[in-house]
Amino acid sequence: MSDRRSRKALVVGGSIGGLFAALLLRQRGWDVHVSERVPTSLSGRGAGIVTQPPLWRILDMLGLDPHRNFGVAVERRLTLARDGSVLGTLRCPQVMTSWDRLFSMLRAEWPVERYTLGEELRGIDQQDGGVVATFRNGTQRFANLLIGADGFRSTVRTLAMGDIPPCYAGYVAWRGLVPESAIPADAYAMLGGVFGFCLPEGEQMLGYLVAGEDNDLRPGHRRYNFVWYRPADERVTLPDLLTDESGHTHAVSIPPPLIRPEIITDMRARAEAILAPQFAAIVRATAQPFLQPIYDLEAPCLTTGRIALVGDSGFVVRPHVGAGVTKAAEDALALADALDAEADQSHALLRYDSERLPAGRRMVQRGRHLGAYMQAQISTAEERDAADRHRTPEAVMAETALMGHTVASPDMPNSG
Ligand SMILES: Cc1cc2nc3c(=O)[nH]c(=O)nc-3n(C[C@H](O)[C@H](O)[C@H](O)COP(=O)(O)OP(=O)(O)OC[C@H]3O[C@@H](n4cnc5c(N)ncnc54)[C@H](O)[C@@H]3O)c2cc1C
Repeated sequence: MSDRRSRKALVVGGSIGGLFAALLLRQRGWDVHVSERVPTSLSGRGAGIVTQPPLWRILDMLGLDPHRNFGVAVERRLTLARDGSVLGTLRCPQVMTSWDRLFSMLRAEWPVERYTLGEELRGIDQQDGGVVATFRNGTQRFANLLIGADGFRSTVRTLAMGDIPPCYAGYVAWRGLVPESAIPADAYAMLGGVFGFCLPEGEQMLGYLVAGEDNDLRPGHRRYNFVWYRPADERVTLPDLLTDESGHTHAVSIPPPLIRPEIITDMRARAEAILAPQFAAIVRATAQPFLQPIYDLEAPCLTTGRIALVGDSGFVVRPHVGAGVTKAAEDALALADALDAEADQSHALLRYDSERLPAGRRMVQRGRHLGAYMQAQISTAEERDAADRHRTPEAVMAETALMGHTVASPDMPNSG
């Protein structure tokens, strides 16, 4: 067990990864503070989140009950052809939650006075036995352990390990949320109760129902969440997608209201031309689509001195793995366990690093394989091989958003 007098932790980043770390460390007797850059309460980030069994286990360990109103249960996966007919189905029970739902569950467990909004980390000074963190507003905080849970453009990582630029995957995701009541009846009849897919050449559309506003899970009040992956060449198409009407090209991502109208018109026209009519109807019903370029990111290590990275600050895994929040929770648990098991905190950090670094690398690699067939350019033989293996409806349904824990089994004949 580590020395109780030196168990003061500072978590930088108050999103899902940061809250998991804070809650799990507090449970083991640590004195924890969370500093979040954004000045107002976080909400409305992302959309649908496929839950995985390890996430349920970790929520359970925190005394949170994922069996109560966690999300929308689906039993089956289904792939639609361009003409709207069913190409295949697969039995695969899962619960789809939303970022808001998970965040509010965790946030409700964390004391207000231990969570400071509007505190943006600017500097770190590693000292004997701890770290002094300096924030933009001039505040300084000392902790024996600093946890970087500040996402894929992590300041903690950059300050501690240098600049590690994210690597663009060669495609973007168009995403949207549609009120369940706005989905035309024929599209709803096919897609309403399933995890649906459509696979135009070199692209992938998927979608499922999630909770509505204020975690409303009543039928008729939920929302349909879709993600449509489309290749976009890094030198020409991507900068064009990220350029707003004033001519400014945004780095990494663009706020949804700034996407140029002609870009959205073109996206909607492509939906009518290449997607199954049920999915095209969902795109048509989407008031404000948003665009997310897909990146990979791998930190060279997860710890240095008295600093540890959890969640997206260490590894960003493509969304095909359905791993973002589950990985963040698993990182936080592994860190808390290592600190609990080792008397010496530096040994604990080495233990955490040796456990979660290979796990993160494996997940990034899996995301690369699953997404290979959507890349604008395939450059290596390995990518070509992965693209061939993972592009069929059977492979996509059996492999997407499953972390090897959930059982997918062929559906009964005629059940589509
Ligand atoms: C916009 C968005 C949409 C997403 N959509 C999905 C999805 O649909 N499905 C899914 O599985 N995953 C999604 N993810 C990813 C998923 O939320 C993360 O993988 C998971 O929550 C773990 O993220 P994290 O807490 O490590 O980082 P993040 O959620 O990125 O949080 C990092 C936090 O750190 C704060 N921060 C950054 N810099 C500083 C600083 N210098 N000082 C203080 N605080 C700082 C940020 O404001 C932010 O609140 C999304 C993430 C984002 C940001």
